[in-house]
Amino acid sequence: MSMIEIKNLHKSYEIGSSSLHVLKGIDFSVEDGELVAIMGSSGSGKSTLLNILGMLDTSDNGTYDLDKIRIANMNEKKAANYRNKFLGFVFQSFNLINYKNALENVALPLYYQGISRKDRQQTALNYLDKVGLKDWAEHLPSELSGGQKQRVAIARALASNPKVLLADEPTGALDSKTSMEVMALIQKINNEGKTILVVTHEHDIAKMCKRVVHLRDGVIVEDKKIKQNIIKNV
Ligand code: ADP
Ligand code: MG
Repeated sequence: MSMIEIKNLHKSYEIGSSSLHVLKGIDFSVEDGELVAIMGSSGSGKSTLLNILGMLDTSDNGTYDLDKIRIANMNEKKAANYRNKFLGFVFQSFNLINYKNALENVALPLYYQGISRKDRQQTALNYLDKVGLKDWAEHLPSELSGGQKQRVAIARALASNPKVLLADEPTGALDSKTSMEVMALIQKINNEGKTILVVTHEHDIAKMCKRVVHLRDGVIVEDKKIKQNIIKNV
């Protein structure tokens, strides 16, 4: 079985008395170690799909298996537990805690896993080093550039060693040069074996992945492996 397997996934939003059918029968699977772009224009359902994959939301119909575990009708506590253990998240807006420094931001998820303070600090520092920000450990988010903030967010997502990294428009708030740096980091992490899904509406970003799944109006219209555009010298 694949790392991610979804079958006939449907999702509607109820708005007042009307219903908006956003995901209309999605079938797809992701193998361990893939780097997949979920492409599509604004409103095509990308974030809705990613939120369901990330167990931040539930589907109305269909099945979802993550690392052989059926994700369905799970109580919130159990879902939170799987979410912490299996999934790392990166968002367009970084979602760092403003009054905590880079090291504390990266260490925070480990606190919720009951890891000792000393080990949290050490692990967080290792991941900051991995994203090239060891010397910025004591800086607050407000003292970091957008690219540095996103690298801290990536370090935070990786710190709990998730099975899958989910990134929703990770370069959406960055200029093109900084976007390249962040995508180069994502490629590096993927080359080390991490399974990564990147939501984007930008063709250039999708081309840096190894497979592109194209969503249009809530259905997959194309799903193909591509020749990856490898970023060098950033
Ligand atoms: P994308 O990420 O591709 O831009 P989304 O998944 O965010 O698309 O949204 C798909 C559609 O669902 C849009 O029409 C959006 O307005 C609608 N939508 C998203 N979230 C909600 C919500 N919580 N309640 C109602 N409608 C929503
Ligand atoms: Mg979105």
